[in-house]
Amino acid sequence: MKKLSRLLTATVLAGAGFIGSGQAQAGPVRHVVLISVDGLHAVDLENLIAAHPDTPLADLPGVGPQRAKLLVKLGLISIEDALVRHLPTRHEDRSQILPLGRITVGEARTCAGTIAGISPPPRGRGRMPLVVTIRDATGFLNCAWFNQAYLARVFKRGQRLIVHGKVQPYGRGPLQMLVKDYELVEDGEDEPLHAGRLVPVYPLTEGLGPRPLRRLMKRLVDGWADRLEDPLPARIRTARELVPLSRAITAAHFPESEAEQAMARRRLVFDDFFLLETGLAIRRQREGRRRGVAMHSAGALLRRLRSSLPYQLTAAQERVWGEIRTDMAAPYPMSRLLQGDVGSGKTIVAALAVLTAIEAGYQAALMAPTEILAEQHLLTLGRLLEPLGPRVVLLTSAVKGKARDTAAAAVENGEAGCVIGTHALVQGGVRFKRLGLAVVDEQHRFGVVHRAALRGKGESPDVLVMTATPIPRTLALTLYGDLDVSVLDELPPGRRPVVTVARGEGKRRQIYDFLRAQIAEGRQVYVVYPLVEESEVSDLRAATEMAERLQREVFPERRVGLLHGRLSFPEKERVMREFKAGALHLLVSTTVIEVGIDVPNASVMLIEHAERFGLSQLHQLRGRVGRGPWKSYCVLLTGVTSEDARRRIDAMTATNDGFRIAETDLELRGPGDFFGTRQSGLPEFRVADLLRDGAMLEEARREAFALVAADPKLLAPEHRALRAALLARWRGKIDLAGIG
Ligand code: ADP
Ligand code: MG
Repeated sequence: MKKLSRLLTATVLAGAGFIGSGQAQAGPVRHVVLISVDGLHAVDLENLIAAHPDTPLADLPGVGPQRAKLLVKLGLISIEDALVRHLPTRHEDRSQILPLGRITVGEARTCAGTIAGISPPPRGRGRMPLVVTIRDATGFLNCAWFNQAYLARVFKRGQRLIVHGKVQPYGRGPLQMLVKDYELVEDGEDEPLHAGRLVPVYPLTEGLGPRPLRRLMKRLVDGWADRLEDPLPARIRTARELVPLSRAITAAHFPESEAEQAMARRRLVFDDFFLLETGLAIRRQREGRRRGVAMHSAGALLRRLRSSLPYQLTAAQERVWGEIRTDMAAPYPMSRLLQGDVGSGKTIVAALAVLTAIEAGYQAALMAPTEILAEQHLLTLGRLLEPLGPRVVLLTSAVKGKARDTAAAAVENGEAGCVIGTHALVQGGVRFKRLGLAVVDEQHRFGVVHRAALRGKGESPDVLVMTATPIPRTLALTLYGDLDVSVLDELPPGRRPVVTVARGEGKRRQIYDFLRAQIAEGRQVYVVYPLVEESEVSDLRAATEMAERLQREVFPERRVGLLHGRLSFPEKERVMREFKAGALHLLVSTTVIEVGIDVPNASVMLIEHAERFGLSQLHQLRGRVGRGPWKSYCVLLTGVTSEDARRRIDAMTATNDGFRIAETDLELRGPGDFFGTRQSGLPEFRVADLLRDGAMLEEARREAFALVAADPKLLAPEHRALRAALLARWRGKIDLAGIG
């Protein structure tokens, strides 16, 4: 009958000129067939209404408005949404069916048998369960349901039942199963859904239980998985040995085996990465085609800057600087990421780039994530560049009133060669005369959006992104897939690893003795105090009291300073200058010193409540010491620690290598949290896991970049589905106007 109706439908629709691709190959689902009075015009409703997977779920026969509303709550509007987005969070293995004679006590057991007896709860004893006895060739099992007495009317003796649940002893009688899920197998016609297989477990919403949702998903998979358009060109699918989308989706929901499940996952992970990387490749290629400025500087100022340095650039700095200089001289905009561990010497490389832009007649902007870092850059770059002529100005939200007007005017009329700021720089208002280079420091805190905004301030300026948190390669490819990458993989000579130890409160006295001895040898000390929020007055008071107590009771013969984010710029500057000059022996500070601060004579860092800091943050803090020729120390003072905190502290004492630290941090926190909202500029993954699937990411990236190089606008007919999928995936998050 089913076959007949489909045949009929296809014929009639074809005759009526309705038929489109794929309509005739519907899956074996419930079809409603209307046959007109004359018997000549039959229309298969489900096929007609929902031939295409983008049909709203609400239009499906049997999905009422109530159900549709619940599905919308899950974010599911169309059939396609449900198929490709509402993937099971996991599968429960209910495929091992145990003979009843061999059943044992335990959590997740699956058995099957014929219904031999049904005992509903006695009247008025609603709290007693319904008990159904099933039987197979090897024995019996009593199965119990609570609060579902109606099932007594559903089940009939002689029916075959698969049950899944917890098996437990019951008084002195036989074992009993508390049934969690069941499946009535009628005439062995349909394959089981809820038990006797790998059962999908879906995210639910109140009012929509697992069984009806599973049934709906099965209907969708059977009816529409075959009609999903496969965005992946067949050539790539074959080359990478990936299954077609329809098979992957079918197996992702209802796999026949674990092997099938794994193959489905592989394909869907590839899709996640491939759609991301194709988007990045397109964006990249559009940037590249845009004309930028070719900056050629005479190089006289550059030579003077280099000869003013008290050191030689490392080989890594020379190599990286060569890469940047080549990019800047080319007639298209630079997009480069400069990656380097704390203390690897990124600032001087940035200074060379800034000076090159100025010498070529342009302005440069440097954007930092915090005020204090912006202020630090102002001091450092000012010291490096101003003696050679260029003017460096600061524009942060702390610069107000007349000072701000003056600085903004200098930027607008071109007097200021270099402007340093926080995100206030890109928030409207500021106009440049001729912006040629934008440097973004500590990029991991900025989104792609900020980068684009800064870029918009000039006529396609060169962009150099610097990051101090070394990012594992797979992540760099994801976050900065549209950038070239330069790595400073060498520290300036003479650096020695910072000796790092963890100590408890009981050792405070000995720690102070150690600090005293170091100061006696001429070194200086940081004492870092955690501050959850710079506005949290109580934390600030704690840091202030700590500084006072250290001065009064512990180091009365030494000078103790205090630095925190709420001091005004001149105050901060004064404290930093005193510390740099050696006039302060100890500096009690909040995490404002996390980045950018550079005092080589400071050789010891004591971190209070180290368990409260994140791993990357601890590593950044530690990077403040070990900058001079002396042996340096980082003491982590910890209170009560959680398991996670323990692992962070262990990672710190185990290694000084920023890349290993970043990898551990990523493992501990997961990519979502590692980047927080910073990742918001990119589409989300549905299946892929950056930690698990890194190798696949690189494969997908190679294919994506090759494809975009060959067909930049995705105009080839075999790329039509890819183009549609790409626009859907990146919607609102990237401007794909060039290909849309
Ligand atoms: P980061 O990469 O963390 O921003 P900085 O640029 O602050 O590192 O450099 C750290 C310290 O190393 C600074 O004191 C800087 O003057 C110094 N430095 C940079 N390059 C060299 C070099 N080639 N030789 C010696 N010291 C260097
Ligand atoms: Mg730096």
